[in-house]
Formats: sequence, C-alpha cells, structure tokens
Amino acid sequence: MLDQTLTEQAAALRRGDYSATELTAAYLARIDARDNALNAFVTVTAEAAIQAAAAADAALASGCAGPLAGIPIAHKDIFCTDGVRTSCASRMLDNFIAPYDATVVERLAAAGAVMLGKTNMDEFAMGSSNETSFYGPVRNPWDLDRVPGGSSGGSAAAVAAGLCSAATGTDTGGSIRQPAALTGICGLKPTYGRVSRYGMVAFASSLDQAGPMARSAADMALLLQAMAGFDPRDSTSIDRPVPDYAAALEQPLTGLRVGLPAEYFNAGLDAAMGDAVRAALTELERLGAQLVDIRLPHTALSVPTYYVVAPAEASSNLARYDGVRYGYRAQNPVDLTDLYKRSRSEGFGAEVKRRILVGTYVLSAGYYDAYYLKAQRVRRLIREDFLTAFGQVDVIAAPTTPQPAFRLGEKQHDPVAMYLSDIYTIAANLAGLPALSVPCGLVQGLPVGLQLIGRDFDEARLLNVAHRYQQATDWHTRRAPGA
Ligand code: GLN
Repeated sequence: MLDQTLTEQAAALRRGDYSATELTAAYLARIDARDNALNAFVTVTAEAAIQAAAAADAALASGCAGPLAGIPIAHKDIFCTDGVRTSCASRMLDNFIAPYDATVVERLAAAGAVMLGKTNMDEFAMGSSNETSFYGPVRNPWDLDRVPGGSSGGSAAAVAAGLCSAATGTDTGGSIRQPAALTGICGLKPTYGRVSRYGMVAFASSLDQAGPMARSAADMALLLQAMAGFDPRDSTSIDRPVPDYAAALEQPLTGLRVGLPAEYFNAGLDAAMGDAVRAALTELERLGAQLVDIRLPHTALSVPTYYVVAPAEASSNLARYDGVRYGYRAQNPVDLTDLYKRSRSEGFGAEVKRRILVGTYVLSAGYYDAYYLKAQRVRRLIREDFLTAFGQVDVIAAPTTPQPAFRLGEKQHDPVAMYLSDIYTIAANLAGLPALSVPCGLVQGLPVGLQLIGRDFDEARLLNVAHRYQQATDWHTRRAPGA
C-alpha cells in the first residue's frame, strides 16, 4: 500500500482493501525505520495520528467520508497546529505550542487527512538546502550525502522516501518546487491569494504561498482542492470560486501553446539537465502542444530583486520575536534592551540574522528609495514580462533548478551560490503566478524537475499538462533507492 499514490490509496480505502488504521500504522513504522537517517521529521504525532485514522475508518464505514479520508500526510513545521509544537525549525520557536490550526491544516483535516507529524525545514523557511534548520540538515533519500533542497526539504524527503502519502510546503522563492525537483517528487506553488496564509508563520508576506507536495499531478489536484479557497482571516486571500481540479486533468493538450523562455535555458543550466527538460518538451509536443520561443527579458533581475523584497518583509515580520511574546527568552537579562538583544542573538541562526540585517538596511531612511522602492518597480517589470508572454502562450515551461541536488556543505558558506539555486523559481513568486515542478529525468542517478508556470489562477491548466505528461511517461514513478 505504501507504493501506491495518494489517488490510488484514496480509492483503495473506499473499496476497503485496507483500513486507514493499517495505512497510518504502516507509515509510522516506516518513519521509525528510516527517519533516523533522513531527519525529515521534527515531530511525529503518532498517537493523534492513530486516533485520526480510527475516526477516518468510522467515517469511511458510515459512507460520509471526506475526499482525503484516511490519507496520512505531514505538515511543514511552519503551519500552526493546535496543541502541537510549531518550531519553524528555529531555536526561537523550539518551545512554541500553537494555540490553533492554520487554515491549511484545518481544511486538510476536514477533508479527512490524517496528520503524521511536522517536517523539518530551513529556519523560518530561509534557505535552499535545509541546512539552516536548528534541528540539523535533512538528507536526500536519493543520496544521503546530498541536500534535499529547501526550505521544504523535510516534506520533500518524507514524500520521496515514502514516509507519508503527501505533505504540505510553502514557497516564497522556490521552496516547494526546488526541493520537489531535487527529490524526484511533484510540488505546486499556487497563485498568490489562492491558498490562505492564516496560521502560516510569515517570512515574506507578499510572496509566501502554501501548496501540496506529492507523487503525481492527480495527487496534487486532490490536495489543492481541499487547501484552496477564500478565507476571511487572511486579508490577501482572494474570493474567487475554486474549480474542480480533478475534472480538468484529462483535457487533451491539442493546440496548447507552451512558451520556452530563452533566459531559462542559458549557460548556467547543467547540460544533461537541459537535455532531460528538452526531452520532456518533445513529449509535450507529441501530446499535441506547440512549442513557442519567448523572452522574459528581466529574468536576470529576479534574484537581486527578491533579495531586497524578501529580507525587507522578513525583517518586519520577525520583529515580533522579542523574547517577550513568543518563544525563546534569554536568561537573566540585566534590562529590557539586554533581553531583546540576547533573546534575538541566541534565538536566531546565522542566515536569519543575515536576512534581518539586509532587510533593516534596505528599509532604513535614506536607503528605502534606492533599494526597496526600486526593487518594487523592477518586480512590476518582471510581472509585465510574464503578462506579455501569456498573450502568446498558455503555459511556460522551463527547468526548475540549474543543477541536480548538491552535496551537504557545498554551498553553505557561500550565500550567493546558495541564492542562485532559486534562479528559475523566484520570478513566479515575484509575479504572483502559479507554478509547479514534476520529475522529468535522472542525471547521474539524481532527479531533474520540469517547471510549468501558468496564468493567474490557472492551476487547473498546469495540473492538466502535468497529468497528461505523467500518463505518457514514468519519471514520477521512479523511487529513491530503498523507498
Ligand atoms: N531559497 C529561498 C530563500 O532562501 C526561497 C525560500 C522559500 O521559498 N521559502 O529565501
């Protein structure tokens, strides 16, 4: 049963091939056996999971079960979970027990999903390798000496190693798509405003979006169906009907126009990975799509723009961790200033401090116009590139990352090299557009991701293209050794 996709498991549970209790117990056993090596989980909520599975079995027996009844999932430890530690993988929140559930958590539970636990991540979602976690790095199931990507690296490794059916992630600059690509799974970042951010610890509020990480496009469609929709508790959530994602999966691709941005197939792209992505494009062509060369001229500005906007918002969001209201508090302060200073110095890790320093600098009087305001203007140009391209094409296809999974420690002391791992994913966040990554090959035994970027609120189209591609190919069924 652990070899099946979420979609197959949902059907099997309904047929009564096995119970939710059996499925949950099987995943818990696998977490026990494998997670010591991977470090994908920060917290495992075994007892609550067994109870939730029993409730799902009762719902299944009574015929009134939700669409995800009995499906075991894991939540990135950035989502508040009522009564369960929500650490954001930071010493600052190591002792923080959330008093309520995030909307995403609440909605997935209402659909019947069973939470197995909370997954490891880069501290406050800042990173691309999962090495900034207070709880130590996560390892990539394809090669334990390599990173799983970040910041949703725990969720990605857990899905790739078969420790859960699916997981949630968040994506501010690539944190769902990049780890999905590096671990050979599927991940979707929805349109900004599609999924509620309520109860999701804020990193950069104008960029953060939650999304599903799973084994197939069909699985992501089921998960997004439960996650998406208006939430009056998030003022940036958009009140717009949620389409039936599963119903749109089968549409033929005949006549679909797929844009290939020259800027994403550049010299920085690993040659063998480029070949894998091009083979996927040929497959889309065979399925009836038409490939169109396009330009996104401001692409090179997206990483520098992001590293002004994201730290600025982070410095403001993280001001709330003052040692008084939440989490870590320094011992024996001599006065209030000392309490603030030492709580933040001791509670935050190096990368988080780097972001706070940069963010405070670009927002300070005298520099605001030169950096923050300028970055917001460039951000608009980046979005306009996409809007122009979408006059010509229906979706944009590109690699998800420039390289396959790198070695632990390889980029840890070179922040700029680390930041460049997100060179192909960041623009979609700056533009607010939906984007997904699906496996499309292996290079030296390591997974390669194909990225699809869509028009605002066109998640259904992205899932449709990915699903048709997965019906014709089997890259998404390849498993990490031992998974
Ligand atoms: N790697 C990027 C960063 O460090 C993106 C992180 C994310 O999407 N949460 O900011």
